[in-house]
Amino acid sequence: MYQLKTPEQLTRMRRAGLVVWQALREAGRGVRPGVTTAELDQVIRDVFQRCDAEPLFEGRPGRTRFPAVSCISVNEEIVHGVPGPRRLKPGDLLTIDTGCRLEGWCADAAVLLAVGPLSSRMEQLAQATRETLQLAIDRMGRAARWGEVARAMAAHVRRRGFSLVEGYVGHGIGRQLHERPDVPNHPAQLARTGADFPLQPGLVLAVEPILALGGKQIRVREDGWTVVTADGLPAAHVEHTVALTPKGTWVLTGPPEPQERDWLRRFGFTV
Ligand code: MG
Repeated sequence: MYQLKTPEQLTRMRRAGLVVWQALREAGRGVRPGVTTAELDQVIRDVFQRCDAEPLFEGRPGRTRFPAVSCISVNEEIVHGVPGPRRLKPGDLLTIDTGCRLEGWCADAAVLLAVGPLSSRMEQLAQATRETLQLAIDRMGRAARWGEVARAMAAHVRRRGFSLVEGYVGHGIGRQLHERPDVPNHPAQLARTGADFPLQPGLVLAVEPILALGGKQIRVREDGWTVVTADGLPAAHVEHTVALTPKGTWVLTGPPEPQERDWLRRFGFTV
């Protein structure tokens, strides 16, 4: 049903994950009032170029080909925000989502960032979104099937008083950005497709919960890409590429361990 990765392949995916981590970190350093989302996208492009990594978002087919190397979604934008002339302002909450392929292996992650202080409700939304991803990562290490993780995520979001957006799913990842299986965040999505699956060592998933402050209804803007909340209220999205190993979960897009920093420094980054 889906391909499991060998330990050697996971090590190679980790390298791609470190490049994604570095790209998101450099872009995050550029987040401030007045910067445009296109400028942040350029920072990510430069990192990929320095590492000789292939950007995976640019050129993706849709009504028009996706024009950037990252998706940057601000406030009411849920996913697939197209970087452009939008200038960030204090109080904005944004998700930067990107992926690359390095020496044949892919990684995909998204971070949630704030421009200055957020309203308390948006701060809670951001916190709940990060918690939901962390909870999923923790639960993946001991659950037998993905459905258990999805149920735990949905219960957490409900407790925190937000909506879990159902229209988009995480995915398997490996040589391709999107591989089997689909990874729904909500048990209702699983129930509709009947596609629950076992969790076992060697499985690598891009896990990406999306929370909304208001309702979960969505619409797509005229650009054919940017997905926004129907009620115009903020949404938040985070993502990691997560591997299951015999010892538990390994966040392939997580920050470098001390011994991995030298590898990143070879490209001239300050880590
Ligand atoms: Mg993804």
